[in-house]
Formats: sequence, C-alpha cells, structure tokens
Amino acid sequence: MAKQEDIFKNVVSHAKEYGFIFPSSEVYDGLSAVYDYAQNGVELKKNIREYWWKSMVQMNDNIVGLDAAILMHPTTWKASGHVDAFNDPLIDNKDSKKRYRADVLVEDFAEKINQKAQKEIEKARARFGDAFNEEEFVTTNARVVEYLSKYKEILSRLAKGMTDDLQDVKALIDELEIADPETGSKNWTDVKQFNLMFGTKLGASADSAMDLYLRPETAQGIFVNFLNVQKSGRMKVPFGIAQTGKAFRNEIVARQFIFRMREFEQMEMQFFVRPGEEMQWYHHWKEARLKWHLSLGLGKENYRFHDHEKLAHYANAAADIEFNFPFGFKELEGIHSRTDFDLKAHEQYSGRKLQYFDPELNENYVPYVVETSVGLDRMFLAVFATSLQEEVLEDGSTRTVLKLPAVLAPTKAAVLPLVKKDGLPDIAKKIIEDLKWDFNVAYDEKDAVGRRYRRQDALGTPFCITVDHQTIEDETVTIRHRDTMKQDRVKISELKDIIENEVSMKNWLMKM
Ligand code: ATP
Repeated sequence: MAKQEDIFKNVVSHAKEYGFIFPSSEVYDGLSAVYDYAQNGVELKKNIREYWWKSMVQMNDNIVGLDAAILMHPTTWKASGHVDAFNDPLIDNKDSKKRYRADVLVEDFAEKINQKAQKEIEKARARFGDAFNEEEFVTTNARVVEYLSKYKEILSRLAKGMTDDLQDVKALIDELEIADPETGSKNWTDVKQFNLMFGTKLGASADSAMDLYLRPETAQGIFVNFLNVQKSGRMKVPFGIAQTGKAFRNEIVARQFIFRMREFEQMEMQFFVRPGEEMQWYHHWKEARLKWHLSLGLGKENYRFHDHEKLAHYANAAADIEFNFPFGFKELEGIHSRTDFDLKAHEQYSGRKLQYFDPELNENYVPYVVETSVGLDRMFLAVFATSLQEEVLEDGSTRTVLKLPAVLAPTKAAVLPLVKKDGLPDIAKKIIEDLKWDFNVAYDEKDAVGRRYRRQDALGTPFCITVDHQTIEDETVTIRHRDTMKQDRVKISELKDIIENEVSMKNWLMKM
C-alpha cells in the first residue's frame, strides 16, 4: 500500500496537472497557504457550494440566504471576542528563526508516542490473529501501557497549559526536549499569543484611516443582520440564515495544502431558536449535516463525530464532523450551540435591541443560535482526495480515475468523435450544442480514443460519448461509464435523460 505521504503528494500534483488547483501567484514562487482554483477546480467548488445551498436554503422553507460584506465595522470583532481571544500560541526557534504553533509541536510529539503504541498493537494483532483481545492487550502490555499513559499525560498537561499559563506549555516543550522539526535545534523563545485576524485600513489619509479586519468567519455578518432579515422576511423563530463566502485567518502553521489556508471559504448557517430549545436543534443539525455528507457516497467509515469536552466561551455544546483525510481524521465541519452570546454581545456594543417578539409566547427574547459551519475548501479536499484512485485493470495495466460523485463533477460528459474525419466531428459538435444548455460538456478530438477516455477518467468526467461511423447510419452513439468502463449503445435522443438521471441534485439529495 502506498504511504499516506505519497498519496497526499499525489493528490496535490494531480490537482495541479489536471487544472484543479494552482499555488497563488506561482510565477513569483507562490504565496504560502494561498491557492487559486483553476478551470476544473472552480467548477467542482461551485458544484459543492450549490449542493450545500440547495440542501440548506432551497429545501428548507425556514432558511434564507445572505451575502454580507467581507469588511465590517471594527466593533463587530470586539463584540464577537475576536480582538481579545482569537489567538494561537506561537513559539520561535532562535537558531532557525522558524515560527511554530506551540500546541501543534507538543501534539505532534505526543502523536509520535501514540503511533509507537499503535504499532505494537498492530504487531500483536498480526501475531495472535482472531484470538487477539485488544482491550486486554492495551491494559497489560507494559510497553503499550507506558506509551499510552505518557501520550495522555502530555495532552492533558498541554490542555491545562493552554488555559492556565502559556509558560507551562514552554516548560513542557523544554522538558520533552522537543526540537525544531526542520533543524533539530532546541533553542526556543517563550510562547506568545498571536492574533489570527488580518488587519487593513479604511480611508486614504493616514490620520483619519480606520483600522479594519478581514472577517475571520462569516457568522458575524449573519448575526448583525439578524433583525433586518427577520423583519423584512417576516421570519418566525425557529429560522435560519445561510451564507457562503471568504474568510481570512493569518494561520501560523499553514500546511496540508488547502486544508489550512489563509484565505478560504466557509459555508455557514445560523439557526435562531427559542431559548431552552437549543439542545433539541443542536442534535437535529448534527444528524442532518452528517446525512448531507453521507449522501455523497464517499463512505460512512470516513466520517466520525468528535464531541467537544472543552467548550469555547460562547458555546454550551459543540461537535465536529471529522473526515478521514489522507493525513488522518480531522475537522471538516463544526456544529455549535452558540447560546445567545453573539446577539447579546452585539446588543451591548451597539446599544440596539436585537430581540424577537414571539407571537405564540407573547414575549420578547434574544434567540439562541445553533450554527453549522463547514469549510468549502476542506470539503473540496475531502471529495477530491477520496475520489482519486489508482486501479489495476484486468490486463495488468493501471488507470488513474477521479471517482467524483457525478453530481459534483466539473464536466458531466465529454463528446468524442472516433476519428477527425468523415463528418464525425460535426455530429459530435451538434451533440454538444444540444447538451450544453443543461450540462457542462466538453469536446475532445486529440489522440487515440483510449487515451481520451483516460484523460476524462483523470478529470472525473462521469460519461464519455463516442461518435463513430454507425452514428451516421442510425443516430446512435456509445456512452461509456467512468467507474465501470462499461459501454452502451444508445440513441442520441436518449443522452439527456441518461446524464440527467445520474447527475441531478434531486436524485443525490433524495439519498439524505
Ligand atoms: P481548526 O481547528 O482546524 O483550525 P476551527 O475549529 O478553527 O478549525 P471553525 O472556526 O469552527 O474552525 O471554522 C469552521 C470551518 O471552517 C472548519 O470546520 C473548517 O472546515 C473551516 N476552516 C477553518 N479554518 C480554516 C482554514 N484555515 N483553511 C480552510 N478551512 C478552514
């Protein structure tokens, strides 16, 4: 089996080679953790966004959309707590001058110890076969017991240091003799808090300019518009406001391709509910969001919930939906019960009431909020990396195929004339003219048809339609299915229905 690292490298290079994702401003050697979506990437990303929007906004009569500006009044970020508390602990290496997240250094160190334990467990499993009792083994094998208790001790001391005193985190780094992963130096500065917001200025003259931030999350644009939307849309609690858009975070360690970017896109929905009913809605949205993910068919085993024990200052319950990325299970989406923290804070800082009059209860209140927040780029990575597969065929050759859910594929069908003559290209182009009103379709006449199939496989195109000499006689073509490589002979007039059946959002969302 290929190593995780190799699989991930392959994902990054495939994304570039086939026009999905390029490093930003690559002619200048790129900008760290900033990426551009290319001709195919932009289509895949748009389709994911649309799939989300349709299921959240179009399919729910009590959820409406919003597109708030990226720049907001600076007091927004005082009220939300981002100015004071949106920090990561950073540490510099004095020799290498490299900057790291102190908590990540410690977590990575601990994970190595955990991996040692896991290796012992796997070795024993292989040795004992069916008779292996993992529960017993991890509590009795001296080496594994030692590794796991060390692992847990480090993580709990880290968690304590992060809340109580960052100097304890520095002491832990020294005690564990954690070295700079790139140079091996152990010469560290103290741990400092680093605010993740990008600052900018409004206005031309230096004196009158106003300090602004690029929004670090889209949610606040929803909160400050809560009453505007409720009143103008005559919305009744419970109701939701959904938004997709860019967010910016000056991440200290930005690795792992589009998993952690400095400029990224979020798809968020804030659901406003009666105080006291938030837990019921929290559970509802946890399940609903997982179902949405599962509808894409990437494999149930690739998702899991992670319920937070330690909660953010604004939350009374929180969970992540984690996905099995090429580098392990990591957060894909967050579902948070945010209480009335945000609306109350905006009331306090703005001096305006942000309350709802509930006609059934005949009283005013500040609604509670349940939030669902998923990163569009992380969704892209989850879908793309899981779909990219190497298959060994019956004749021993291999093919690279991007088994994207057909509903998300950038191009739904490629139309290929078998040869570049005898009028076949004209028929192919006519088919394109017909289909392009409903689907993204592509024309390709370069190279032998087998190579063209492989190229479309690598791009994730679910169908290849081939026009050959029989087409001239009976208006039939072959349609090849990407995943099975099976070819059927069908009438040109049937093509639209065949494709529609496979790619329609309705059919996919009905699986929820
Ligand atoms: P993490 O713990 O990975 O930094 P977070 O808990 O800070 O994420 P949230 O603030 O809950 O993330 O944001 C909601 C979603 O936005 C995340 O689940 C993730 O999908 C996405 N997201 C957050 N930060 C980034 C980033 N730097 N790059 C890409 N996506 C991001």
